[in-house]
Amino acid sequence: MDHFDEEGKLIIPDKDSIKNELEKRGLIGKEDLHVTQVYCPNGHEMVMPDNAKFDGLPGIKLFLKGENKEDIVYISPFLNKRQRTGGDDFGLGDKLEVRCPVCNEKMRVIGPCDCQWNGEYVMLSLDKNPDNRNAVCFCDIWGCPKGDVRLAGEVVAEYIRDYRL
Ligand SMILES: [Zn+2]
Ligand SMILES: [Zn+2]
Repeated sequence: MDHFDEEGKLIIPDKDSIKNELEKRGLIGKEDLHVTQVYCPNGHEMVMPDNAKFDGLPGIKLFLKGENKEDIVYISPFLNKRQRTGGDDFGLGDKLEVRCPVCNEKMRVIGPCDCQWNGEYVMLSLDKNPDNRNAVCFCDIWGCPKGDVRLAGEVVAEYIRDYRL
């Protein structure tokens, strides 16, 4: 079985300029591209050393709020591994508010997702200033695997996948 087909794969264009820009903002690695830090709109760091670990590195801590459920969820910092812990009570297709676990601020919406659930992409900012729109983005629907990476609001990398839950 093709490992990447199962997990989805983020395709980064083979351009040094884009790779350099991503690296400057803490996206490190090639096959194992991962974020080292992301920020809420108020500048709180959401990758902290005591977060749940994925392959030895701390995950991204999020507070997710559904219609009548809420949970702290950690997602893998590795962009090609769609692993997470927590959120066991959420169901496929649930629309979630993605909030900062520190200040409860909602992550900004950066655009629509074209999935069947009419989800929206929310951004995890790579900079302390979210107005720069450098971000890792993903759909706010539980179970929707879509996402991308944007620099100055422009999509520079998108997921391709055959993702199974
Ligand atoms: Zn915050
Ligand atoms: Zn979606």
